[in-house]
Formats: sequence, C-alpha cells, structure tokens
Amino acid sequence: MPALAEVLSTVAPNGDPRVCDLPTCPVCADSMVAAEASAFVSDNVVSYLWTCDTCGYGFVTKHSLRRFACN
Ligand SMILES: [Zn+2]
Repeated sequence: MPALAEVLSTVAPNGDPRVCDLPTCPVCADSMVAAEASAFVSDNVVSYLWTCDTCGYGFVTKHSLRRFACN
C-alpha cells in the first residue's frame, strides 16, 4: 500500500525513526516493533495502535506529519 509507506516515512523527518518514533510498552518497557493499525486524526495527524507482544497491553500514540506530501 503506497499511501501507508508514505505516511510511515514522513512521521519523523528529523533523526532515526527507529529510535525516536517507536514507543516502549508502559507496562513492561518492551520495545514496540510495528503498529497494529493506523488512522488519520486530521489532515496532518495520524494515530497508531500498538499492542505489546510480551504482555498484551494496547495503547495509541499520535504523530504530527510535518512534511506530509500528498501530490
Ligand atoms: Zn508490555
């Protein structure tokens, strides 16, 4: 899905997305590998649903897309 790849590549324009964008589980502090799902909150804000593989805890993060290119 090209649109999803575009979103993921523009979430963190500064720095390494693997370091500054991926959250850790607030329950067991395990690192999240990939979001279960994503959804647009507005034109330039996207939310991700994360589920911890270790303890099963689920949570949502929101990210601003500063350089979102739709053309
Ligand atoms: Zn966990």
